[in-house]
Amino acid sequence: MFQANEALIRSVVEEVLSQMKSSPRAASARGHQGRLGVFTCVDEAVAAAREAFERLSERSLEDRKRIIDHIRRISIDQSVELGTMEMEETKIGRLAHKIEKLKTLGERTPGVEFLRSEVYSGDHGLAVIEHAPFGVIGTITPVTHSLPTITGNAVSMIAAGNSLVVNPHPSGKRVATEGVRRFNEAIFRDVGIDNLISIIAEPTLESADAIFRHRGVRIICVTGGPAVARAAMNSGKRAIVAGPGNPPVVVDETADLARAARSIITGAAYDNNLLCIGEKEVFVVDAVFDKMLTAMDKAGAVRLNRREIESLTRAAIVKVGEGERQHDAPSKDFLGQNAAVLARAVGKNIPQEVELLFGETDESNPFVPVEQMMPFLPFVRCRDVEEAIAKAKHFEHGFGHTSIIHSTNVRNMTRMGRIMDTTLFVKNGPCMAALGLGGEGYLSYSIATPTGEGVTTPLTFTRERRCSMIDELRIIGKERAAPCN
Ligand code: NAD
Repeated sequence: MFQANEALIRSVVEEVLSQMKSSPRAASARGHQGRLGVFTCVDEAVAAAREAFERLSERSLEDRKRIIDHIRRISIDQSVELGTMEMEETKIGRLAHKIEKLKTLGERTPGVEFLRSEVYSGDHGLAVIEHAPFGVIGTITPVTHSLPTITGNAVSMIAAGNSLVVNPHPSGKRVATEGVRRFNEAIFRDVGIDNLISIIAEPTLESADAIFRHRGVRIICVTGGPAVARAAMNSGKRAIVAGPGNPPVVVDETADLARAARSIITGAAYDNNLLCIGEKEVFVVDAVFDKMLTAMDKAGAVRLNRREIESLTRAAIVKVGEGERQHDAPSKDFLGQNAAVLARAVGKNIPQEVELLFGETDESNPFVPVEQMMPFLPFVRCRDVEEAIAKAKHFEHGFGHTSIIHSTNVRNMTRMGRIMDTTLFVKNGPCMAALGLGGEGYLSYSIATPTGEGVTTPLTFTRERRCSMIDELRIIGKERAAPCN
């Protein structure tokens, strides 16, 4: 199935190239129509996305909604096929969650209805502030959610009236390209605009850099780890950066431990702990530490002993980088793998259905500072809640991303919320409750942390424009009598 789709993409690219060779004038008259968003050259991709933006600008909000509805429909109706492709290509995470992510993003990403205008009405008339598109947005997406990130970004960015050029992660490029091709095909057929989402089918660091520097790209939105976050912020363009996290969890003596255990497993095991918001290390007060580990056993996680944890740490955490830049990182052999794969590496046989491994470590174990993105959670014993919050603060590394507490003590919750200062702060639920999945609020897979936009929405991708009417159009108050002649 996958080969067939790849062949289709290749044939679209080849057909267009051959048409350009045989009849360059005809091809240029057609612009980039018919490419279905698939490009190998950044200049061409940006030009095509610009044409698409111009066409979109002539259309109504109702048309934008229709376009977005195609993206939603494909994400939902084809979630099994596309989720399976993503799993087969990236080989990380869990199939059921790959499918669910596409479905959820299709259903719940905020769209056109999220746009609003503000009004100031007073003695000097009326000012209306409207939210206008930027134009072409350069978009970099991660391997952890290759097509889902594009789906969410495309809905939000197009709802705001923009088009986008995507440089996907090379290890998820095929499903990304196939998804984009399908979105564009449906949009083109129905609305007659092609390339609203343009993608670089053979992405490299050089193509990402070319997008960062391209004059036709107005702003950039990157979703990924520290290196791409740094590169985006140094690009000289306005950047919306959905950066890395290492979300800590605090459990105090007042917590409902059974609920905490269920929540921690739901969040940390989701897609084998690939979520940037996913629980990554747990600090539990000494008074309930042993009971908390028992609650984790009861909730279905599998506990590793000290020897097994040492052996997993040796296998699954590796050194990367050179000299002063050398640091611990998750091994590619274990990142996003099932708990059973991690367990096998330490000589333990457990069923494939087990979602999460856990165990007691101290804070010097690399699983505590490293964003491991695999289903093993270290639990660290703390003297009291003050120490637990202080350690949570330290190991979040100042990313300002996500933190979680299980507690019924409002003072402890408030203190932790203030001290952590994270974009998302969850109390008594799994991490995804902060994205409206089991909690209130709305969803996006690009949570802009270092640059501060938070959970991105269509409004994130707009620029403010003000329209001022001087002295008229405030219709409140008495009209003065017209002067008599
Ligand atoms: P990654 O940083 O390896 O790659 C992300 C993207 O950036 C890829 O497309 C990659 O090719 C590109 N890239 C990497 N270095 C670059 C550079 N120097 N210049 C230009 N492009 C570069 O991350 P990943 O492994 O794909 O994804 C996991 C990371 O993303 C985790 O750190 C996770 O926390 C983060 N993430 C954050 C959010 C969020 O909303 N804040 C969402 C998902 C993932």
